[in-house]
Amino acid sequence: MMHAFPRTFTMPMQRGERAATASAAPLTPAGYIRLRREAAGLSVRTVAGMLTRNATDAVVAFDLINALETLGNTARRPETLEALRSIFPLDPDVYRQLTSDPADSHPRICRGCGCSHWDPCTSDEHAACAWVTDTACTACLPDTAPVECCQ
Ligand SMILES: [Zn+2]
Ligand SMILES: [Zn+2]
Repeated sequence: MMHAFPRTFTMPMQRGERAATASAAPLTPAGYIRLRREAAGLSVRTVAGMLTRNATDAVVAFDLINALETLGNTARRPETLEALRSIFPLDPDVYRQLTSDPADSHPRICRGCGCSHWDPCTSDEHAACAWVTDTACTACLPDTAPVECCQ
């Protein structure tokens, strides 16, 4: 008898799809950390392991990263952001603005990967990404012609 496996997993949303379907809601500091981590292709567990030297510390770091990626939470100490930044690209200044500035003065951030003006995507082919839309960069929507080069 044929047996069909149920689809019990969900595929992670691709960055292009996420950039194209981004809501207009302001990006939160928690959402920003998660975008930057996922754009680097790293799991929370991997980052926690890279931050620490032993399994006990890795558990603490795992909980900390999950907390930072939970809506409403923000990093209290700059050292935390600097530690994360040593593992994957993120801009502490963008984080600070998302934390403390009103939404209408937030920096422009790609909703597919979290890159921004001072923290662009780079590849072998292109020096840095450019903006395709207000909320998407050329690295996330490569098939769309950039409307403006701002890097
Ligand atoms: Zn992007
Ligand atoms: Zn980009």
